[in-house]
Amino acid sequence: TTVEDWKKSDVYHNSFLLGDDPVLEAALKNSKDQGLPDIAVSPAQGKLLNLLVRTTGAKRVLEVGTLGGYSTIWLARGVPEGGHVTTLELDAHHAKVARENLTNAGLADKVEVIVGPASETIKKLEPSPPYDFAFIDADKPGNLLYFQEAKRLVRSGGVIIVDNVCRNGRVADPEYSDASVEGVRTLLKGIKGDKAVEATTIGTVGEKGYDGFLYAIRK
Ligand code: SAM
Repeated sequence: TTVEDWKKSDVYHNSFLLGDDPVLEAALKNSKDQGLPDIAVSPAQGKLLNLLVRTTGAKRVLEVGTLGGYSTIWLARGVPEGGHVTTLELDAHHAKVARENLTNAGLADKVEVIVGPASETIKKLEPSPPYDFAFIDADKPGNLLYFQEAKRLVRSGGVIIVDNVCRNGRVADPEYSDASVEGVRTLLKGIKGDKAVEATTIGTVGEKGYDGFLYAIRK
């Protein structure tokens, strides 16, 4: 099977389970029109994030890596009335587009987009009240730092998800190295033996190719 087959499979399943979503389609179009890269989560992955937020009853959500706010919309739709999403983005242009997309989605009041390097902005966040759920999807060399900070910010039993942890199998290929792959390996080494979390990786195939989510809970 190839990426084309996985795409077809996503399209097939989505045709039963997702339906048309003009708000999300407009967000993707606006992001593309304004030159943002096509690296948001897939619709099926976005819906999974939404369902996980709802399943866990998360009211306070942290995201690292906003881009145009596509995953942010899925997350924010999952939090109840009175809930909140804080999302961290390095690039001021990405953040501007994300704010437009969130406003268009009717979610601007629920989401705060904070601009700057997440290594700095995440340190300023307070765990009072704590977050319930974190989604990490920014620069991969920052993974371990973001994960450790997310651990500081989420409550006991809270969820931390990290995207892109398989990278087409390259993370597990000893012959391969680049900064993103090393960022994932450093994260895995950091989690190994960490008594404060329990985690697993679940591979994802679909229109974004072969990758994976790392799903952790803080004990
Ligand atoms: N979560 C988004 C979605 O699925 O719609 C996609 C996020 S994209 C894969 C990664 C984002 O992280 C980019 O917008 C990039 O500008 C941002 N980023 C890169 N380095 C960063 C840093 N040091 N701090 C915060 N954000 C960063």
